[in-house]
Amino acid sequence: EPFTSATPEAEWQLVEVAIARARSQITDLRETVSQRTSPEEAAIFDAHLLVLEDEELLNGMRDGITNQRLNAEAAVWDAMAVYREQLLAIDDDYLRARAADLEDIARRVIACLRGTGQSTLTQIAQPSIIVARDLLPSDTAGLDPAMTLAIVTELGGPTAHTAILARQMGIPAVVGATGIVTTTTGAAPGTLALDGALGVVEVNPTTEVIVGYLAQRDARHAQRAHFDADARQPALMRDGRPIEIGANVGQLRELPDVAQQGAQGIGLFRTEFLFLDRTSPPTEDEQFAAYREAVQHVAGGTVIIRTLDIGGDKVVPYLPLDHEDNPFLGVRGLRLCLTDAFQPLFKTQLRAILRAASGGARLKVMFPMVNHSGEMHAARALLRAAAAELDGQGIAASAALAHLPVGAMIETPAAAFVADQLADDCDFFSIGTNDLTQYVLAIDRMNPTMAGHYTSFAPAVLRAIYHAVSMAHARGRHVGMCGEMAGDPRAIPLLLGIGLDELSMVPPAIGEAKHVIRRCTQAGVAELSRRAFALTSAEAVTQLLEDHLRGLMAG
Ligand code: PEP
Ligand code: MG
Repeated sequence: EPFTSATPEAEWQLVEVAIARARSQITDLRETVSQRTSPEEAAIFDAHLLVLEDEELLNGMRDGITNQRLNAEAAVWDAMAVYREQLLAIDDDYLRARAADLEDIARRVIACLRGTGQSTLTQIAQPSIIVARDLLPSDTAGLDPAMTLAIVTELGGPTAHTAILARQMGIPAVVGATGIVTTTTGAAPGTLALDGALGVVEVNPTTEVIVGYLAQRDARHAQRAHFDADARQPALMRDGRPIEIGANVGQLRELPDVAQQGAQGIGLFRTEFLFLDRTSPPTEDEQFAAYREAVQHVAGGTVIIRTLDIGGDKVVPYLPLDHEDNPFLGVRGLRLCLTDAFQPLFKTQLRAILRAASGGARLKVMFPMVNHSGEMHAARALLRAAAAELDGQGIAASAALAHLPVGAMIETPAAAFVADQLADDCDFFSIGTNDLTQYVLAIDRMNPTMAGHYTSFAPAVLRAIYHAVSMAHARGRHVGMCGEMAGDPRAIPLLLGIGLDELSMVPPAIGEAKHVIRRCTQAGVAELSRRAFALTSAEAVTQLLEDHLRGLMAG
């Protein structure tokens, strides 16, 4: 509510205190970033500090409070918006890029007004459980795994990117814990017990309960050690069919896990994570180095680079993304990269990928959120243009492009329906069930209220997967899956029955997945898949798959 009941003087004082706090946070951040990366990287914060000294901007805020009777928050937001519009109107790319910073600064000042410092999450000094209404993927990416015992949020679903990042980092997480912030506000240490696998949290648990949780944890660790013991052996079904196992990664610090946990390659490199947790996009050289580093970590294997998938829940504060009421149905993934505004950024990424491929790196490239052939053609045309630019600089990129497998993610119903057409334009598919499930079922993957209905075991989702796989195979194309479903031990026998060639998952899931695969036979998975496709509800499919898995592991 913008109207304020406090006096304008008191309200203005709040703004002044918040700005002072924001300034000191930015100064700290500048120091940290300068030490961790480079002074050039930190220079952006000088620009942020200058904005907060701008007389015109400060006058705008004061005017909002005294003349328009706005409260502090609304006055800050409005004045920042006016300033942003002014920058956007100037015909200067540098100033236009700074407009994106203003949103970042505005958010910081508002966070300070609300008494929550934005930068504190990266600076936690003792092992802690993070309780929050919601965490942006960029918040989660900045967490120190050594200091983060667990995460509990009120919002989000199991395939929200904050949950996926936590899984990748090996941090237990419970999302959709309604009311947890109020319940735990002011709680003393040791008053929370949680089980990330089951998705349960207990506030003020008794000693008995805590002992129970600890026993569970130890049992899981022991089981995990058992599964991981032969995780580096190949994944062959009992009667010999080999299944390729890839790892899903996002951040460079996860790369050592890939081979160590038994992946043959990287089936999904979420490159947008290279863009989070920083204040400007990585340069072409930085991306080139990152892609090469990824290849070095998968001796002999292939790295599938998924091009930028920004939008939806993956917001990048410094990029000029407009507010959308339905961001998951808006400008995200490949669509965003094909817009005039984002093409230069996209081209930079394509150049970095092509440079890595020209150096002999074993790469594949795939595009997220493809809906139809026209988008594949447009993306391929940009790849060719980027290669031609590099050729002109003496890098043999067009020659490398001729051998670079180019694929589409199948993650919208549209893509699944036209999989036959897309297969003609692609060298391979990778099925992204996190999105495919939300779009097939019309259930937001972020909505905790609907989380009980968000399931890839729904007959409609299984049919979409089956259709995409058959269309691709009919044309001799390789099909992988990189959504969270691929790492779910219950799903794996069914996915083998459907015919998936490759499964890519968070590294900690690989050991168990391989155990399941080794116990499967072709006749067994074919029969399971026949039975699953005859069922009419997700519950029945889940029951069938759970029973089957139990039998498999006991046998
Ligand atoms: C997916 O949608 O299944 C996928 C792998 O992509 P992301 O989770 O990054 O949207
Ligand atoms: Mg997706």
